[in-house]
Amino acid sequence: MADFEGSSAGGLECYSAIQDGSFRFACYGPANYKDGDKLYCIVHLPSENKRDDFKDAVRSKLNHNHLSSPGVYFPSGIGNFGEVTFTEKADFTRATFEEGAGFEDAHFEKEANFPTGPPLRGR
Ligand SMILES: [Zn+2]
Repeated sequence: MADFEGSSAGGLECYSAIQDGSFRFACYGPANYKDGDKLYCIVHLPSENKRDDFKDAVRSKLNHNHLSSPGVYFPSGIGNFGEVTFTEKADFTRATFEEGAGFEDAHFEKEANFPTGPPLRGR
């Protein structure tokens, strides 16, 4: 048995959450997605091929005012939060935006943290 603590409904742990415990609350759903030999939840999966499922997850998170997303990987084409109102703390620490992020006209009613440095990738 592995001895890291924590619980997840399916018994599977998102690799990002294991690497950095502070990512755990940002996980969405079970760690059913594979990248190499590592398992990820949908929002942390570092893949460009997850757009549809990922969009659903992000939409759901937004609907619940719960877009705290440290460590989240945003595939290209997703990362525009213009005109979105964040009523809770928005945390994008160490998030990766494959194609950059847009927060024009977004409203942050509480604290907001953005990635610092290289993770904001672009091509
Ligand atoms: Zn995760």
